[in-house]
Amino acid sequence: MTPLERALRERIRVEGAISVDAFMHACNSYYYATRDPLGRDGDFTTAPEVSQMFGEMVGAALADCRKRGGAPADAIYAELGPGRGTLAADALRVLCSAGFRGEVHFVETSPVLREVQAEAIEGALWHDSVEDLPAKPLLLVANEFLDALPVRQFVGGVERRVVIAAGGLAFDRDGEVVEDSPARAEAVAGVARRLVEKGGAALFIDYGHATSAPGETLQAVRGHHFAPVLDRPGEQDLTAHVDFEQVARCARDAGAAVSAVVSQGKWLIRLGIEARAQALSRANPERADDIEAALRRLTSPDEMGTLFKVIAIHSPQWPAPAGFA
Ligand code: SAH
Repeated sequence: MTPLERALRERIRVEGAISVDAFMHACNSYYYATRDPLGRDGDFTTAPEVSQMFGEMVGAALADCRKRGGAPADAIYAELGPGRGTLAADALRVLCSAGFRGEVHFVETSPVLREVQAEAIEGALWHDSVEDLPAKPLLLVANEFLDALPVRQFVGGVERRVVIAAGGLAFDRDGEVVEDSPARAEAVAGVARRLVEKGGAALFIDYGHATSAPGETLQAVRGHHFAPVLDRPGEQDLTAHVDFEQVARCARDAGAAVSAVVSQGKWLIRLGIEARAQALSRANPERADDIEAALRRLTSPDEMGTLFKVIAIHSPQWPAPAGFA
């Protein structure tokens, strides 16, 4: 039994059954606080860890937006859940070569990952939540952040809970599941309010669906394989598909302008990732096969290209980010 499972069983004995979002919150807080889960030796690999081209396209999109937004001197680069800081390093290289000189702010709760990020990005500043970001124009990105935030599950309108049954953790009811996520709504609304007040643009990239639909999407990944959700609490990554229709609604309700939801593949291609891959291959012919494979992994419909989606939210005073029309 994992240490967290022991603690959760005790909590259930004292408090009674716990909601799915409380379970997911407890598991992911423990999981991220105790390890760097990214990469081949970890549990999963994300787009910025596949290739520098991903972060470069994010940087190009934000640099273009910044310029068309009047390049305010107090604009900051902000990232939610920056992982190893790889995306920030690649994006900031492009942003800085386009004249960006602003501060770098990270929203990250894991002390282990904060240390890894500090190695990657000199002078970064950390916050525990979106609400703590400074009141300045934002150039913000969040890749695979929303999927890690807790979801609630409902079966027949009743909230699903985790109980102890037959000596193990179990769900208290089965049936057609509907999910929602107050934690995501709060994070998106927090970013949107900042954008409306101070200007700027934000990109949210994640796997999920463009329109709301019922269905259970909560999943666990460990060592690059799916595992049962209730197995080994705190030792595997719990995520759920992002409902981009809900993201758009939250941002709009807070007064922000919202882009269409586009697939990661289309978005990267519109931003010029194919030309970037060619240039990289010309400069590093010995790596041409790897670069081609990474391009395919990021953009192909049978890899990350279609499952992953991108949405931009921005201040109504700012121009819309490129790549969505
Ligand atoms: N964006 C990175 C890492 C994705 S993993 C990449 O694409 O490689 C999820 C990230 O979100 C980790 O950095 C994790 O520590 C962070 N995270 C998870 N839940 C969080 C929360 N509630 N508040 C802040 N950061 C969180």
